Amino acid sequence: MSPPPWAELGTFGLAVAALVGLLVGSFLNVVAYRLPRDESLVRPGSRCPSCGTPIAWHDNVPVLSWMWLLGRCRSCRARIPARYPALELGNAVLWALVFRAAPTWSDFATGAFLCSAGLALFLIDLDFEILPDAITLPGIAIGIALSFGSVRRTPLSAILGAALGAGGLFLLAFLYEKIAGQEGMGLGDVKMLGMVGALLGPGGMIVTIMAASLAGSVVGLGWMLARGGDRKMRLRFGPFLALGAIGAWFFAAPLVARYRALWP
Ligand SMILES: [Zn+2]
Repeated sequence: MSPPPWAELGTFGLAVAALVGLLVGSFLNVVAYRLPRDESLVRPGSRCPSCGTPIAWHDNVPVLSWMWLLGRCRSCRARIPARYPALELGNAVLWALVFRAAPTWSDFATGAFLCSAGLALFLIDLDFEILPDAITLPGIAIGIALSFGSVRRTPLSAILGAALGAGGLFLLAFLYEKIAGQEGMGLGDVKMLGMVGALLGPGGMIVTIMAASLAGSVVGLGWMLARGGDRKMRLRFGPFLALGAIGAWFFAAPLVARYRALWP
């Protein structure tokens, strides 16, 4: 077995992982903006959403351009939300942390994909209340494909994780709808949990649900206390699933793998 990425490449590899993570984070901004609007991810090049002026490459450098332009478009002076550089920086930091912690290259790819897809799904679900198939379905395939080089999950546990995650949540949503008489979760959540199961295996997937439910309850309760109980309010589950899954890659999956290793 090859050594972990960190042991193989050290600080140089960490810097490259962070830099590539920064560029991917920049692409995630494009994905989070264009995918839900059914626009092409490659054409046309980046434009200001306010005035439509094409953005020159030197005004499109991750994080630095935003700081240099003081968070405003060069042509129309419209404010560029801080969430753009925050997403780039967040993705870069996560990729560096994944690089530091991954036991194999395959697990690095799994963690990097999970963090980036998770961040994109987090934002798209918050903005549009959808979890696009274009991310979740390939995510299931990627999770299973990468399991072949993983020490954390076998191909069987990746497939089992996807089936249990999607199947279990589908059953839960179906029962909830029958009992409560209203739709609780969308099919987007079902496919997303399938992706999480393929990337983390059944153990990590279950930890993700528990973390997401706990965080969702706390935030939901706080929201209700702050705004007064609005029964029509629908709490999005996707953003919590995304954060829960990223947390589970770092904290739950290694523990689950160690626990599994105790058994023949
Ligand atoms: Zn503009």
